[in-house]
Amino acid sequence: MIPFLDLKKVNQQYNAELKAACNRVIDSGWYIGGQELEIFEQNFAKYCGTQFAIGVANGLDALILVLRAWKELGQLKEDDEVIVPANTYIASILAITANNLKVILVEPDVNSLNISIEAIEQAITPKTKVILAVHLYGQLADMPKIIQLAQQHHLLVLEDSAQAHGAEINGVRAGNWGDASGFSFYPGKNLGALGDAGAVTTNDVELASMLKALRNYGSHEKYKNLVAGVNSRLDEIQAAMLDVKLKYLDQETIHRRQIANLYLSKIKNTYLKLPLNQINALEYKKHVWHLFVIQTQYRDQLQQYLLENGVQTLIHYPIPPHKQQAYTEWNDLSFPVTERIHQQILSLPMGSTLGLHEAEKVVSLCNAFFPIEKD
Ligand SMILES: *Cc1c(COP(=O)(O)O)cnc(C)c1O
Repeated sequence: MIPFLDLKKVNQQYNAELKAACNRVIDSGWYIGGQELEIFEQNFAKYCGTQFAIGVANGLDALILVLRAWKELGQLKEDDEVIVPANTYIASILAITANNLKVILVEPDVNSLNISIEAIEQAITPKTKVILAVHLYGQLADMPKIIQLAQQHHLLVLEDSAQAHGAEINGVRAGNWGDASGFSFYPGKNLGALGDAGAVTTNDVELASMLKALRNYGSHEKYKNLVAGVNSRLDEIQAAMLDVKLKYLDQETIHRRQIANLYLSKIKNTYLKLPLNQINALEYKKHVWHLFVIQTQYRDQLQQYLLENGVQTLIHYPIPPHKQQAYTEWNDLSFPVTERIHQQILSLPMGSTLGLHEAEKVVSLCNAFFPIEKD
């Protein structure tokens, strides 16, 4: 079986270094808020090109806490509108509703599957305060245009970079486009911890300082609480694991691009639509291929066929947020592009340890697939 992603193999590559780092933390007697965190925060900020990185407990908290910090700083208030793509992972949306802000769902662009610029323009009202741009599947949203729109309308920009560590446009990386960005280091992400972890990146010194307080009960200084914060810390062991893996991230991304190029150049089947079919090669080079997502009307048949032939695939994601039970108030809304995407997408195996010969097998199977018409 070719697994969708072999996490054990991913971490096995760095086994000795991870164990040494883990032992160092165990022996230090210091487990929260120490040197390991500080070093990782500095290195991750440098990686993203930002002034600050603030470690938090997970990616969802990173997004929740940025919005919360903007409220504490007087830049946002309840019921302000946040524009977000309707086909995102539900966490982007949970961050908005957790802050009692108003979710404005908009359709993605049919080619990039990232938020549509025209849809943003149509959704802006006097109550719009934030654009939450999600870099879905490892490709940056059209940030130059989003930043331009945000400047015209005096909006804040929050990036959801949970799937896009290291992705670039014009040499500027994910996390360094918006006013702030949330990252996840969930084990399966491009930079994954060995547990839960996340971070916010920003160039805003006041926001950074508010976030450092918020993640630690609202405390800037020991036993002094400025705001009613939360406990959302990135612990020393996870920071140490991440600092080991950060060194290899670009190397892993190069491998992901090799797999993606192989899929893009060799899968030839008119029933399958490949990602970014119409976009030139330069554009996808900056893609970090968290996921390689194809689209087909015969998705379920293809998934079954690949499985029967020893290839595991996944769907990211089968149900859009507005059709979830968690948000019954939106269940009747209609987002045809989003809904079609959710019915047609399939994620092929992708990762830093997927062998080229394995990818070749996926290619031959995809090329041999033809649907059985049923009625
Ligand atoms: C993974 C993910 C998150 C949430 O990250 P966690 O660390 O799991 O909380 C948020 N947004 C997107 C797009 C994600 O893929």
